[in-house]
Amino acid sequence: MSQGLVTVSYIAASILFILSLSGLSNQETARRGNYYGMMGMAIAIVATVMSDAVTSYTILIIALLIGGLIGGRAAFKVEMTQMPELVAIMHSLVGMAAVFVGYATFMDSTSTLSGVEKTIHEVEIYIGILIGSITFSGSIIAFGKLCGKLSGRSVLLPARHWLNLGLLLAVIWLGGAFLAEAEIGGGYWPLIMMTIIALVFGVHMVLAIGGADMPVVVSMLNSYSGWAAAATGFMLSNDLLIVTGALVGSSGAILSYIMCRAMNRNFISVIAGGFGSTSGGAAAEIEGDVQPIEVDETVQMLHDANNIIIIPGYGMAVAQAQHTVNEIAKLLGSQGKTVRFGIHPVAGRMPGHMNVLLAEAKVPYDIVYEMDEINDDFPKVDVTIVIGANDIVNPSALEDPNSPIAGMPVLECWKGHATIVLKRSMASGYAGVGNPLFVHENTRMLFGDANESLQLVLKKLQNW
Ligand code: NDP
Repeated sequence: MSQGLVTVSYIAASILFILSLSGLSNQETARRGNYYGMMGMAIAIVATVMSDAVTSYTILIIALLIGGLIGGRAAFKVEMTQMPELVAIMHSLVGMAAVFVGYATFMDSTSTLSGVEKTIHEVEIYIGILIGSITFSGSIIAFGKLCGKLSGRSVLLPARHWLNLGLLLAVIWLGGAFLAEAEIGGGYWPLIMMTIIALVFGVHMVLAIGGADMPVVVSMLNSYSGWAAAATGFMLSNDLLIVTGALVGSSGAILSYIMCRAMNRNFISVIAGGFGSTSGGAAAEIEGDVQPIEVDETVQMLHDANNIIIIPGYGMAVAQAQHTVNEIAKLLGSQGKTVRFGIHPVAGRMPGHMNVLLAEAKVPYDIVYEMDEINDDFPKVDVTIVIGANDIVNPSALEDPNSPIAGMPVLECWKGHATIVLKRSMASGYAGVGNPLFVHENTRMLFGDANESLQLVLKKLQNW
């Protein structure tokens, strides 16, 4: 394929990626956005495979088959609840690719660059390997935290800010040494030292971020993986990779900002670590009596209610209760009751997690509300049903300054007339903190798997 045709294909793919992102910004157009993305990626792969840059089809086909098989298997096998950790591990692969491409480009003896162009190329390599290494090791730790193999709590080393500053200064100094050495045909030792430091920094950065702040890490690593891809694009002189990487990098950065704002956090403080840990004294112990409720009484309360809000959380994803929830919402709605969903921005384990599940169950978008849109309505609500949510409805975020989630806005369901919480036990949520909502005077606990409980509720409502 001629270079001109490759360039045209890359421009078409870039446009499709931009259309894809804009489609994904709205639930009604998200499906179309995905199709645009798939088309763009198909064009990009075909154009790259057919381009003159490919000299061996054997290696390429083997790589495509291995990658395709692993990706296909993961897509079929991975449960919806494992999606966040899959995304994290994918980010780590992008980082690893940037590191390998960086070293391979540096070792490439066929390069004819000289003077300023050579220096710029070396800076690209250095920065590419730096971002790639941080993304790789940070994403591995995020993977461990998201799948529960590592504790979700923040691990804070003494003098961690000084440590970070020291690492940053070392990276800058090594960068100077690398450019000077590369000039005379060397440069490997500063590059390897920097790679090790960047790997350590990635681990340290993500370990220091506490449970409830993990959403910011997820979106930030998403952003880093984009910049790592863009750096790879610079090293390989591939315009499409630069554009795509910049799109992912900037959209991830915007998402990190949105997540921070939603959680009332300062981005720099989250990245510096320690926000997810207690700041001063110990978090207050939860005291009070739990008031359990059975299915029959739950059905009676729903029957008597006119204004109902449903708050889904991570437990709804675990129980795969979204379809049953939709049936119940439809049934109650058909009886003339106002039924709405309240979505917290960090509910579940990945940005937009609840929206995806509700869309999958075909819950109409016009009854799904963001936290800010619905939070003032709770005093008028007769019954709030909390389905497997915990941290996002924890009053201590507002009332206890020592709580690890202090300052995070939450759905204030306790202000309503009654709240029914569906969960299996009194266990804490991702942030690992007790929840006074469960012992609030207006709260009743319906213990058990959310889907099993809701199926019983649905059956009784249908036979009412
Ligand atoms: P939480 O993790 O706070 O709570 C989920 C609750 O669901 C648990 O307390 C659990 O209680 C219950 N549960 C689990 N399985 C079931 C089941 N089968 N049936 C019924 N209940 C079940 O989730 P939230 O959505 O409230 O909050 C999200 C948390 O995750 C926040 O701390 C957020 O910061 C963090 N996070 C979010 C990310 C994002 O991007 N959205 C990324 C990373 C972390 P029990 O075991 O008793 O049933």
